[in-house]
Amino acid sequence: MADAATALARAREQGVRGFVVPGTKLDDAAGAIAVAKRHDDVWAAVGFHPHEAKDCGDAAFAEIERLAKDERVVAIGEAGLDYHYMHSPREVQIAVLERHLDLAKRLDKPIIIHNRESTEDMVTMLNGDVRGILHSYTESLDVAKKLIERGYYISFSGIVTFRSAQSLRDVAKALPRDRVLIETDTPYLAPVPFRGRDNEPAYVVKIAELLASLWNVALDEVAALTTSNFERAFSVTLPR
Ligand SMILES: [Zn+2]
Repeated sequence: MADAATALARAREQGVRGFVVPGTKLDDAAGAIAVAKRHDDVWAAVGFHPHEAKDCGDAAFAEIERLAKDERVVAIGEAGLDYHYMHSPREVQIAVLERHLDLAKRLDKPIIIHNRESTEDMVTMLNGDVRGILHSYTESLDVAKKLIERGYYISFSGIVTFRSAQSLRDVAKALPRDRVLIETDTPYLAPVPFRGRDNEPAYVVKIAELLASLWNVALDEVAALTTSNFERAFSVTLPR
């Protein structure tokens, strides 16, 4: 967000096409939309990350709802549950996620889901009423298949390239390829060989390369697949 134009230029130079910049709280929602308005290959999402759920009062959520109606906002989120850090109490996180699911349903937009150590509650709550994206996926193949059936896409961050993540690579290998997306989780989770640096969109090429080797296809094919998945997941058409 600090220098989005430069980061986007570097990504386009690497052949990356089509971006969604998600907010995490009210304070950064307008900024995400502003970036989307400046670039015709960028769209925004708005919502409260579970870390910020305790700040999602009625007035703040009403403002998110107003911003969510903007034509450049193509998803609600990121929203979800995080029982690892538990920055907001569990009951608050659940109530706030319910609000976001209800908004996504009313606006007929997908939801971007953050899930950490909360999979059981998540599978119960994502009941198929709303479609969406499971961001920075780290769960099992069974959970992925169940949620794909309910309308979800599976998005991989740099984690899938980490040496310790063999079980996640096994999941990526087995998934239906028309449901896979790639992402940064900027500034976190830079893929190998950039691990430890601030992440940026240009680096998603490394995740595409990994998928190409897992699926035994050319990099171009992964690019075409994830690009058309992106258009379908967010109901957008990239500028030609
Ligand atoms: Zn997240």
